[in-house]
Amino acid sequence: MNLATISTTVPTLRFLGAAGTVTGSKFLLTARRSCVLIDCGLFQGAKEQRLRNWDPLPVEAETIKSVVLTHAHLDHSGYLPALCRGGFKGRVFSTAGTNSLCRILLPDSGHLQEEEADYANRKGYSKHAPALALYTEEEALRSLGHFSPISFNSPFETDDFRVTFRPAGHILGAASAVVETGETLNRRILFSGDLGRPHHPLLRAPEPPPEAHVIVVESTYGDRHHDDRGALETFAESITRTAARGGVIVIPSFAVDRTEIILFHLRRLQLENRIPALPVYVDSPMALAALKLYQDAISLGDSAIRPDIVGKPEILEPGNLTEVKTVAESIALNRRQAPMIVISASGMATGGRVLHHLANRLPDQRNTVMLVGYQAEGTRGRSLLDGAPSVKMLGRYVPVRAEVVNIPAFSVHADQSEIIGWLKSAASVPEVVYVVHGDPAAADALRSAIVRELRWNAVVPHYLERVRLD
Ligand SMILES: [Zn+2]
Repeated sequence: MNLATISTTVPTLRFLGAAGTVTGSKFLLTARRSCVLIDCGLFQGAKEQRLRNWDPLPVEAETIKSVVLTHAHLDHSGYLPALCRGGFKGRVFSTAGTNSLCRILLPDSGHLQEEEADYANRKGYSKHAPALALYTEEEALRSLGHFSPISFNSPFETDDFRVTFRPAGHILGAASAVVETGETLNRRILFSGDLGRPHHPLLRAPEPPPEAHVIVVESTYGDRHHDDRGALETFAESITRTAARGGVIVIPSFAVDRTEIILFHLRRLQLENRIPALPVYVDSPMALAALKLYQDAISLGDSAIRPDIVGKPEILEPGNLTEVKTVAESIALNRRQAPMIVISASGMATGGRVLHHLANRLPDQRNTVMLVGYQAEGTRGRSLLDGAPSVKMLGRYVPVRAEVVNIPAFSVHADQSEIIGWLKSAASVPEVVYVVHGDPAAADALRSAIVRELRWNAVVPHYLERVRLD
């Protein structure tokens, strides 16, 4: 019997993204009567990855009964409007935090897709003629109508599947998804989603894995070890050093969560007199909207927030914070020469307002650019990290004379030993672990660490590979 025949009778899992790469998370679960998609992410980063967003899915969108989102980052949620455009009619299940963040991130993504298509049409470089947006802002807004928010640790059913969200400590609302399927819901698959770090300053630590036959685990930092102590020191020292030479600190930051972590540390370091009290500008409408959601979640005591900070939203406010709302205010910052900290998106400098800050500040050696998160291959952030002498942005090559400081420990992803620690705390030994959501070297390093340290069966699946779950 070949797999095609088997798949109509036994549950299967197919890797439609985040297999051998770090973006495009999409895992198709097929059972007797229906199929669901765990995550519905965009491919991002290098062009060859982004082009995959245009490939037809190997399954008709209208046959997918529902989508289960682990969290709001676009590499997990950003394909959803395209799926809806393709005929998806089902429901999208997520936590309330993910739902709120998707209301900010998805329309913005649609807007960017439209802008890119316009730009390609003006420059005439698209492979489509005329260039098309993968989806529009309008379509993204419409896709929000499919959402159904679900609480953590409250099982819900969708056709052949029962799903439970458990806190994953990665960003607000982030969850691992436990999926039960099979004739008597007797087969359990755990999707880690993106795993946070055990000591996130704002979010509860990821919950240990429950009993599961199969675990699908992320590996973004599967080959790294974060150095926390050194990180805060480096952060404080480079701010102090830059201020002393009259420079400006530009921090390309992911709009969600990283901005909050940076503000939290800035406030603490200022209170401890470990850095000068510089003006701090948050220059990203999306980051400001997300900041408001975090402050509300902290005030109201959302179940994913650390209990010790509930009711204290001020921990995200250094005394000298200015919210930069309009483009004119953003551009006006370019004329300011005094030391200051500018936090602006996007986090890998692939677009957004941070580009004009970088173009303006990189040529001056007094300034500092701080990279505080994962920098995917093919992005400007990665070029800066790799020490490129010049970087192309806004149509020109900009010389890199500013100091470039890397602080990966501010990441919201667990490192190798933290992922191994999380797996080790599992209630049972799984039959197999599928290692996904990592560049090939990171995924393979985590796979071999799982085999070496836990003696578990671990595999890095291929893009579009399908496996049985019975
Ligand atoms: Zn994520």
